Amino acid sequence: MRHLIALLLLLLLALSGCGNRAKSEPPAPAPEPAADRGPVQAIPEWPEHADEPRPPVHLARLTNQAIVFECRRCERLYDGSGECVSDGTELGPARITYRCPADEEPVPDAGKCPRCGREAEIFKAVRRADGIRVMAVR
Ligand SMILES: [Zn+2]
Ligand SMILES: [Zn+2]
Repeated sequence: MRHLIALLLLLLLALSGCGNRAKSEPPAPAPEPAADRGPVQAIPEWPEHADEPRPPVHLARLTNQAIVFECRRCERLYDGSGECVSDGTELGPARITYRCPADEEPVPDAGKCPRCGREAEIFKAVRRADGIRVMAVR
């Protein structure tokens, strides 16, 4: 029994000795990592120009847009509201529809009609001084 206790004591001493050595080896500055992490986790600032409105982009070809913006002077179509880039005229909304030229029924988008394969016709409905007008989009 004595031997066992002595053994246990030795073992404990050895273990605690090991532990102390392991602890003392790496210099552990506990509060420093937390302080270092602070600025990294901070929310990055947005670039200064982020709040400026994006100028509308001219749509040379329509694909499946439902609402676009039209220049009332040159009739160019844009993806957003704002001013026409070529003449500065304010843009107005235009509703776009796609139609098969054969049966004159609507099709989902520009391109070939899913029923007969013909190229879809595109129309825009715009507000003018005399009311809503529907015109073909070239
Ligand atoms: Zn224009
Ligand atoms: Zn068709």
